[in-house]
Amino acid sequence: MTALLRAEDLRKSYQVGRGGLFRRARRFNAVDGVSLTLNKGETLGVVGESGCGKSTLSRLVLGLSPHDSGEVTFDGAPLPREGSDDWRHLRRRMQLVYQDAAGALDPRQSIGTQIAEPLKIHNLPPERAEQALADVGLPPAMAARHPHELSGGQLQRVVIARALTLEPELMVMDEPVSALDVSIQAQIVNLIRDLQQARGMAYLFVSHDLSVVHHIADRVAVMYLGQVVEEAPKAAFYARALHPYSKALLAAVPVPDPATRGRAAPRIGDPPNPAAPPPGCRFHPRCPHATERCRIEAPELRDFGPRRAACHRIEELSQ
Ligand code: SF4
Ligand code: MG
Repeated sequence: MTALLRAEDLRKSYQVGRGGLFRRARRFNAVDGVSLTLNKGETLGVVGESGCGKSTLSRLVLGLSPHDSGEVTFDGAPLPREGSDDWRHLRRRMQLVYQDAAGALDPRQSIGTQIAEPLKIHNLPPERAEQALADVGLPPAMAARHPHELSGGQLQRVVIARALTLEPELMVMDEPVSALDVSIQAQIVNLIRDLQQARGMAYLFVSHDLSVVHHIADRVAVMYLGQVVEEAPKAAFYARALHPYSKALLAAVPVPDPATRGRAAPRIGDPPNPAAPPPGCRFHPRCPHATERCRIEAPELRDFGPRRAACHRIEELSQ
């Protein structure tokens, strides 16, 4: 398999609060040493609770916000500097779709105009817009409508169509179905999956929802407070996660089998403030297996065959 996107020890911090005469402004590491690879035509699901840094990661790999350190390579070359001319061509090859489809569209412009807009910018034939509309399952008459006339699911189809017109090799999807009704979610997830089969794009699919990721991902990466704590092929991950945090997330996923529905999920409490991560293993205040070592020493992300996990006690806990 060939790598399309690679993140190497990526870091990004933000300032929290304001500094003053006697106070230094604190910095918060939203993404704190993330290394990931996305192969051509593959879907990597990035999961974690809100505030774990997954949206920041999405923006960093697309060069939409600059990283502090580390490196992002796309198709073998590092991302160009901000404002560089090289972005013009590269922008076409990587697209972002995010949760708020209505916010991504201009309420005053027709759907057709907005789908065709990227084509105009890149001097590409306008016919591609009609094709994209058909590809996302919307009738041609939709082109004359305005965003307020469409449902949430239709709007998300429009946003996906607009990204497709440029025939990208990478689509970063940040919670693309989270704002939709559950019945519509399945339709859009199926659409996203079918489009990939037809076009061979790679997806970085960011979601807090492990059941959605189960439908779409080839591999899963779990983030916790700015770091990857586990990464594994999908089947292995859902069959038996290694990291205690992954296990807790999986236990909280609604079970479709009515016989087991309502089974109490182990409670791990609320996530800590991402701006002040605990020392040692960041998960230790919520981990049922934490020891003294966990409170002091941060575990490294280690290889376990085709998977990686960051926990001192994997070997013991997997027995
Ligand atoms: Fe739990 Fe310790 Fe493993 Fe962290 S390192 S997940 S606290 S057992
Ligand atoms: Mg987010």
